[in-house]
Amino acid sequence: MAAKSFDDRDGWVWMDGEFVPHRDAKVHVLSHALHYASCVFEGERAYGGVIFKSREHSERLHASANILGFKLPFSADEIDRAKAELIKKLGFENCYVRALAWRGSEQMGVAAKRDDVHVAIAAWEWGDYFADKMKGVRLMIAPWRRPAPDTSPCNSKAAGLYMICTLSRHAANDAGFDDAMMFDWRGQIAEGTGANIFFVRDGVLHTPTPDCFLNGLTRQAVIGLAKKRGIEVVERAIWPNELASFSECFLTGSAAEITPVREIAGLNFKPANLTEQLLHDFSALTRRANA
Ligand code: PMP
Repeated sequence: MAAKSFDDRDGWVWMDGEFVPHRDAKVHVLSHALHYASCVFEGERAYGGVIFKSREHSERLHASANILGFKLPFSADEIDRAKAELIKKLGFENCYVRALAWRGSEQMGVAAKRDDVHVAIAAWEWGDYFADKMKGVRLMIAPWRRPAPDTSPCNSKAAGLYMICTLSRHAANDAGFDDAMMFDWRGQIAEGTGANIFFVRDGVLHTPTPDCFLNGLTRQAVIGLAKKRGIEVVERAIWPNELASFSECFLTGSAAEITPVREIAGLNFKPANLTEQLLHDFSALTRRANA
């Protein structure tokens, strides 16, 4: 049986300050966001009824909107409160939370300064981002590259930036892979289509410098956990010809959490000590966040 469509569910969506029945949470077809991608969003996870790094996500939503030139009509505090109330009202303990902000319908055309800004929050129960995640995922090299910082608002979690992620993910899935690894405009390794990437060589963690893609909150948390264990973490430019020298690889993201990678385009990796330690520490951290 096909999974139930996301608009055909019971429950509530928080929209512009109030709780709306899930099926009524609609926007007009003449919304600037739909035509010109003036939308920013967050993906978050709650563990045991508490959203991991809720405040940081709310602040990033604000920052993303500011980069696109619009201001949210709700403070980070208000958004935090709304998220917490929503998951409580829905009775969810472990769930995914999607907060978003977009430009409305007052003005159509490229210019958008007169458009009202809307904010909504939805949540749903969602298991692992990848089927068989712990077996390790297989990545293809993406047919698209992360654009240069002067050709995209790359520090914003902006909907428009996901066009090439969807295309890359589809290309990977069509070729029998789980996901794609994207290079950046220079040809350096950048990230997955919805997650950051880490590699291990001789007990040292290597990860690309986030200078043209999102410096994920999970990425930052994992770097902190690694350092706490005394593991050396090197953020640097990583080139594709180094791939064969790495023994372990994993993805990080709010949806992906820590996902072991077992193959990138024919090269094999074996999740071992370091991936396992960080999986353990991350699990403890997300659960402790609720203590
Ligand atoms: N890169 C991209 C393209 C993403 O969509 C995400 C998920 N938001 C990440 C990285 C990881 O970010 P975070 O850990 O903050 O979820």
